[in-house]
Amino acid sequence: MKVTPRGHEVKAVIDIMERDLTADAMAKALIKEVAEMLAMRDWYALTHRFKLDKGNGVNYGPFASVIEAQKAAEKWIGAGEGGWVKLYSPGQLEARAVGKKWIGYCQTCTHAKNLHLMDGSRRGKCGLSNCRCSSFIEIK
Ligand SMILES: [Zn+2]
Ligand SMILES: [Zn+2]
Repeated sequence: MKVTPRGHEVKAVIDIMERDLTADAMAKALIKEVAEMLAMRDWYALTHRFKLDKGNGVNYGPFASVIEAQKAAEKWIGAGEGGWVKLYSPGQLEARAVGKKWIGYCQTCTHAKNLHLMDGSRRGKCGLSNCRCSSFIEIK
């Protein structure tokens, strides 16, 4: 996995590192934070089938980008055929259901941007039936 750190991720890690924690507590907090960041990203898997083995194959992943998956296929997959599939974020799956204080989500209701209905050229009220949020304000 070739992960390119994003600005808000670097900031969150620095925020933890600047806390007054024991080394053990800091290590645990960093591992949890980074795992959550990675769970909020979409990934890619390389799919593969052997031509001479009844279509059986081995799938590999996650990869951080299509390009990374394609390069791995070119480099390491010999006989057979394959492709890549997008793996949608497990963190966003959960966040869409319950909301999350996360970059790109709504400050008011913590639901995803695309759950807010279009209001002219911007996002307005939240489309979830049990949510009373009237205007999307993005967490930055
Ligand atoms: Zn909202
Ligand atoms: Zn909402």
